[in-house]
Amino acid sequence: MDSLYQEIILDHYRNPVGRGLREPFEAEVHHVNPTCGDEITLRVHLEGTGESAVVADVSYDNQGCSISQASASVMYELLLGRTITQGMATHEAFLALMQSATDESGAEPDEDVLEDAIAFSGVAKYPARVKCALLSWMAWKDAVSQAQTHGGNT
Ligand code: ZN
Repeated sequence: MDSLYQEIILDHYRNPVGRGLREPFEAEVHHVNPTCGDEITLRVHLEGTGESAVVADVSYDNQGCSISQASASVMYELLLGRTITQGMATHEAFLALMQSATDESGAEPDEDVLEDAIAFSGVAKYPARVKCALLSWMAWKDAVSQAQTHGGNT
């Protein structure tokens, strides 16, 4: 793995941004990656409704490998203060990055959207670790969909 990218991942692993469970929140989910033993409990706090709702907070508590923990920290930085529309676009871009190693189309990952998350490009080469990197993102998407289904908008 590229050493600069490895450095970014290790830095987020050692100094996770936004970690800890906070209130208020509209939805809480718990996701597990059984193949590695990673776990995350994640809460979302949205302001507003629908696609234009703003991610006011993403709080989480997790355990597991460095990839899964660093991924949650990077995700927090990328999603905080963004709208659901922007957040889902970033989610899609990260998913595409993780699938890029097996993607024959040769689509280039969008570095402007992904920022530090681009550091996970090396992970895409290791199918077993892709689930580690995606765990927090899947949890976030699940939590947002639950928050919006339940009409939480405080
Ligand atoms: Zn893992």
